[in-house]
Formats: sequence, structure tokens, C-alpha cells
Amino acid sequence: MSDTPRHEWTLQMSRRIRITGRLRMTSALHVGGGVGTTSITDAGVVRHADGRPYIPGSSLKGALRSHLERLCQVEALAKAGANSCLLYAPGKKGPSWTPTAPACPTPGWIENKKDATAAKEEDFSSLCATCTLFGSPILAGKIRIGDLEVVEETYNGDVEIRDGVGINRDTGRAVDGVKFDYEVIPSGTAFAFTLDVDSPDAVERGLVAVAIRELQEGRISIGGKTTRGLGHCELSNIAVQDDDFSSIEKMANYFNSRADNGTSDRKVDDPNDTINQWIVALLPSS
Ligand SMILES: [Zn+2]
Repeated sequence: MSDTPRHEWTLQMSRRIRITGRLRMTSALHVGGGVGTTSITDAGVVRHADGRPYIPGSSLKGALRSHLERLCQVEALAKAGANSCLLYAPGKKGPSWTPTAPACPTPGWIENKKDATAAKEEDFSSLCATCTLFGSPILAGKIRIGDLEVVEETYNGDVEIRDGVGINRDTGRAVDGVKFDYEVIPSGTAFAFTLDVDSPDAVERGLVAVAIRELQEGRISIGGKTTRGLGHCELSNIAVQDDDFSSIEKMANYFNSRADNGTSDRKVDDPNDTINQWIVALLPSS
């Protein structure tokens, strides 16, 4: 695969990779609906107007980003170019991560440059791997994750209500007199997963593959209250579609095939082997 230089991808769209699968909860899930949820509890789960719960793509994207930001602190990955400036990584609390890339530029940083045009090119090419994949204040990311719709046959329409006590974040101890209840989606409920990544280079593609493998192994938790054991999940039934946009004909073929049957005919034969190959390309055994 010929790689588009990382910072030129917006100028040259060469391919699109789509990974789909089924994300099954192995523990209950709480993705807060925030203000406006029609819940009798203090904290409802996010739902469509007709009541069906879903997982916002942004919620899973955030979980993947922080997971990969941590993995990019592993020396072998950083040496392979999978570095991270830790733009959205945990701050003062928790382990003190060491960024493996210099701080990526932010809009304020650009404004302070005298020659804005020259600064731009330099800034884009200096972005770390997690910023080019997931986005930064100066550039949209290459990854998109659609909202994950519930798989009807795995969901009976019920939510469970849990009692919680207020926990002091610093001490980790219960706070007297602070009680609340919240909704969770039952364990066993599954959601349809779709991730698109546009024109990744070998490093970015490898990182996506690592994220998929971690999801398959159940090592990434999603939603809220993960420290209370919620949000464990496993990705299965993956399919990988690798579409070539390097010519007008190939692009036309892509859009035409999607119009016919809603899917491209470029699904790879063995998606798990493809994921393996992408990881090996990122981390070749010497
Ligand atoms: Zn960065």
C-alpha cells in the first residue's frame, strides 16, 4: 500500500478502510444521557427519541484515544513512530505519563507565529500519531466512529437501576449522605460497530489494528463508572473493507457498489489475518 504522507491526507484521499463488528457488553454499561433524559433515576442512559439506547461514536472514540495514548508510551511503539503528545491524556491524577512526542501545536500557538502560512505546513507535519488519527485543535482526525446502534435481538427493552454512593475522587472513599441511582444497559447487550479511517499511513493503520485487537480481547472499557466494573465489552464478528480511491474509476466503483447493496465488494477474506498483518507492519520482529 502506498502511504499518503501523514499531513497531506486532506489533500490526497487515497483509500478508506472500514472495520465493522459486534460490540457485546460483558458487564453492564452506563453512557450518561446528560440533561434531558427521560429517566426516573438521577442518571439516565443516552437513548433515541423512541427509547432505544445507543452508544455515541464520540464516547467510544474517546475511550480508544486514551487507550492508544497510553500504549504509545511503550518505547517499542514510540520508536516505530506511534508516538503521542498526550493531548487528552490524564493530567495530574493517576500515573505520570511521559509524552513520546513534543506538544502538538494548538491554534494559540499558530497565532503567535509571525508567518501563519509557513507555520501551518510545519505544524501539520509535526502532529503526533494520536493527533493525526483522532484529531487535534488544528486538524480533524482520520478516524470516524458512527453511533453504535443496539442489536435488537440482544436487548429486551429493559434497563437496570443501580444504587450508588458518592465517592470522593481524591480519597476513593464513600461520602456520607450522598446517594444516587443510575440506569445501566444489561450485560449481554450488543451494539453494531463501524469505524472508518481515511488514508492512514502504515503507523496509523497499525495503531487502528492494535485498537481493534484490544477491543477483541476486552481490554478497553467504555462509558462511565468503569472503575466500578461497568463498560467491559468484547468486539467480535469483524469485517474489514479496504477501498482504493487512487483513481476516478476505483472511486466510482466504490460509490456505485455502495448504492447497489450498501457495501463495497472489497471485504478482505480473512479480517483477523489482515489485522495481524497491519500490527506486524507496525512492529516487525527483528
Ligand atoms: Zn499530538
